[in-house]
Amino acid sequence: MTDKQSWGIIGGGILGMTLALRLKNAGYNVTIFEASSKAGGLTSSWEIDGIVWDRFYHVILMSDLNTRKIIQEIGLENDINWVETKTGFYSGGKLYSMSNIFEFFKFPPINLVDKFRLGLTIFVASKIKNWQKLEKVHVSDWLTRWSGKQVFDKIWLPLLKAKLGDNYKNTSAAFIWSTIQRMYAARKSGLKKEMFGYVNGGYNVINDKFARHLIEMGVDFKLNSSVSQIKPLKDGSISLQTAGTEQYEFDHVVSTLSPGQSVNIADTLPELEKEKHRSVKYLGVICPSVLLSKAISPYYVTNITDTGTPFTGIIEMTALINKDKELKGRNLVYLPKYVNPEDNLFESSDDEIRKIFLGTLLNMYPQLSESDVLYFGVAKARIVFALPTIGYSNSLPGIQTSINNFFIVNSAQILNGTNNVNETIQVAETKLKIILNDLNKTK
Ligand SMILES: Cc1cc2nc3c(=O)[nH]c(=O)nc-3n(C[C@H](O)[C@H](O)[C@H](O)COP(=O)(O)OP(=O)(O)OC[C@H]3O[C@@H](n4cnc5c(N)ncnc54)[C@H](O)[C@@H]3O)c2cc1C
Repeated sequence: MTDKQSWGIIGGGILGMTLALRLKNAGYNVTIFEASSKAGGLTSSWEIDGIVWDRFYHVILMSDLNTRKIIQEIGLENDINWVETKTGFYSGGKLYSMSNIFEFFKFPPINLVDKFRLGLTIFVASKIKNWQKLEKVHVSDWLTRWSGKQVFDKIWLPLLKAKLGDNYKNTSAAFIWSTIQRMYAARKSGLKKEMFGYVNGGYNVINDKFARHLIEMGVDFKLNSSVSQIKPLKDGSISLQTAGTEQYEFDHVVSTLSPGQSVNIADTLPELEKEKHRSVKYLGVICPSVLLSKAISPYYVTNITDTGTPFTGIIEMTALINKDKELKGRNLVYLPKYVNPEDNLFESSDDEIRKIFLGTLLNMYPQLSESDVLYFGVAKARIVFALPTIGYSNSLPGIQTSINNFFIVNSAQILNGTNNVNETIQVAETKLKIILNDLNKTK
């Protein structure tokens, strides 16, 4: 690094913190603006009934090398636990284990020929390298071609609807490709076992340590600082204003907010450019955390192929983490539902959601009764992941905006992966390299 240029980063989630880390490594002055009172964004934690855990379920895969590198850099590598987990399927009112190839062949809802086609589809997707081609095909067409109509209707369609709602109709086959790639990576080669990891204390500990690490390196980490506007100044620098009407100036500013949110705080961008960013559609999530007095299954993930359940799947966190150490012996189950950002459920109270979600859970697990439910709290996020629509990567706006020195780097730029921390770090690191290279060229 040759000079001490200043950088303002908007958003103190994983993406913003990674950018700050790499900019600080390169010797720049960095300030992060985070709207909420703590670091971490979607990975941040909350306190439920006296215990602190992630608002949204998170695991680390062995193949998440970017995540593991950051964990190592902030000094938490000895705090990762690796656990062999199992996957369940809830189908036709029954719960099945689908954790290995033998169980797959015993899975009753589809016949042997269909099982073969389902297995073939997964195998083919795991081998495909040219994901750009898949971006041109509808996910439903691609899956029907490989799996057949029967398997599509019985297995894939409920799973697609669960994750995407009716948006599956505009989603490309790149979506299922990246999901299968990640699922494959989760299984160790040879034994094909699913090994998932978590850090003691969850993402609460990772985020705290990450933020402290940055502060110790000299990053100015401003919490409770929602950015309301950025403007270009005559000398090429950027003025940044927070909702508290405080004013700052930086040589460069990077927004890590979604495309739509990023252009909403940059009034001087041309309308056409704003429209391009706003046309990137995101999905949100409604995600109840339920504390139970007993376990409901041995599965970390239970996929649901029955239609009509109000939630997308079931994540039993305590099938992964040590409940005595982390959760005072309670069992934690998440009941996520992925929805459009304008879905009415965002306006529903926790009690209303509890009525809809819990009734179904109790029906699905007859051994469970209302008295086993110790706590029910709902986390919500309207902006979670960008929908991989047909031709997505071609329609995506670039990172350089028409305001010099104002960049937009966000999770929408994950092109060949699912939305996860590992890919988020990858986007931050690769896009920052491009930005710095371009800036060096113009010097
Ligand atoms: C239900 C769920 C389950 C998940 N499971 C996993 C998993 O198992 N494994 C995994 O690796 N990943 C998982 N993820 C994905 C992971 O959480 C995200 O990929 C990652 O956290 C995205 O980070 P980000 O920094 O891009 O965005 P965010 O975390 O959304 O960060 C953006 C930040 O900007 C802040 N902000 C917003 N507006 C302003 C403003 N005007 N001014 C200043 N700050 C602002 C927000 O408060 C937020 O902190 C999951 C996500 C969800 C929702």
